[in-house]
Amino acid sequence: MWRKTPLYLKILIGMLIGIGIGILAVSTGTSWFVADYIKPFGIIFLNLLKLVAMPLIFASLVTGVAGLSDVTKLSRIGFKTVSYYLVTTILAITIGLVLVNTIRPGKFFPQEKRAELLSKYAQDIESRKIEAQSIDSDTPLQFLVDIVPDNIVKAASDNTNMLQVIFFAVLFGVAIVLVKNPKVDAVKDFVSGFNEVILKVIDLIMMFAPIGVLALLAGLICDFSGDNASDSLQLFATLGLYALVVIAGLLFVALVIYPLFLRFYAGIHFKDFYRTMFPVQLVAFSTSSSAATLPVNMEQVEKGLGVSNEITSFVLPIGVTINMDGTSLYQAIAAVFIAQVFGIDLTFTQQLTIILTATLASIGSAGVPGAGIVMLIIVLNSVGLPVEGLALILAIDRPLDMLRTVLNVTGDALIATVVAKSERAHDYTPGMIDEA
Ligand code: ASP
Repeated sequence: MWRKTPLYLKILIGMLIGIGIGILAVSTGTSWFVADYIKPFGIIFLNLLKLVAMPLIFASLVTGVAGLSDVTKLSRIGFKTVSYYLVTTILAITIGLVLVNTIRPGKFFPQEKRAELLSKYAQDIESRKIEAQSIDSDTPLQFLVDIVPDNIVKAASDNTNMLQVIFFAVLFGVAIVLVKNPKVDAVKDFVSGFNEVILKVIDLIMMFAPIGVLALLAGLICDFSGDNASDSLQLFATLGLYALVVIAGLLFVALVIYPLFLRFYAGIHFKDFYRTMFPVQLVAFSTSSSAATLPVNMEQVEKGLGVSNEITSFVLPIGVTINMDGTSLYQAIAAVFIAQVFGIDLTFTQQLTIILTATLASIGSAGVPGAGIVMLIIVLNSVGLPVEGLALILAIDRPLDMLRTVLNVTGDALIATVVAKSERAHDYTPGMIDEA
């Protein structure tokens, strides 16, 4: 029976058991057991996902690009992809700003908590500041320089360098199209065969997903509660309104904005879309990493939404690094929330600056846990807000990170369907995920 159970249900069951184990361990004081004997399986799962990310991007992108009949098509797809990504990011930020300015969660924040949190997390903020400083001190065109690797082996050895590997893979693929020599067919066949093998590896890894998410969630609950569960709960209540505003924003984008795009630009029923995306979202939620979720996302978008391999392999890896609707929405809300707690009124121009910098910051954030909060420092700096304000929101950043990652990966898949539809690279029939 287990073999016939759909993947999302298996993952969901794993998650629920993981949460149960986590709560049990915290309440019986056996968190050490989870840390020593359960959490390692979560880390193994995460490593497995990260392990296939680079070979997958390379193989599937080269296969996709090499399959194109002409190179102009590539620039057209690239232009569309980046434009759609920008539109959804800016929409998400605007929604975040409207919500945080209307509900004003910072006004309800107890001032005595402010001082307490500022001193509690002072040290933590320092290390993040240093991380952000190295990014902030770059020249304006540094992001372009960063896309071009000086050594492909070095680039491929670090999962945060996805754009560099994408750059090389596109270049390699374009060269395959341009060389009109039958000898090149062997290269093409090799990479395409390699791609098939990687896809099988992903299938194998996903068999382990239920255990992986079980272990990740049990570990997270123990880490989050630590020894002082009541302290965390109290903080949660204090920051609850801020968290609710972020969650409301994420839900609005997922349930109102995306369905509109699906209806008008993708021709996919939103129920079908979300059914296909559910396992992907569960993995994103458990890992807090869009980069780690990429292999599952690519597989589901192809199998369940009928998007061609050519589009999936191009649009999704790019999305992992440059499109983060959840992160940018969160950054806008967090920046204004911090301003509110410090009693600083932001002008209209400052809010516009937030739209600009949150867009850039989300493009610059890597798809890994906690990247968004480091890049938030750049948003805070741009409007002169105290970076120490991060201390206010740090305590509940992880759960919000899990949720914004879900929106990040969903947004990538959405744009893949939109681009596929406009390119007629779409072979979607309602309910196809059930047959997959
Ligand atoms: N964890 C997020 C992601 O991987 C990035 C962030 O917002 O921290 O998409």
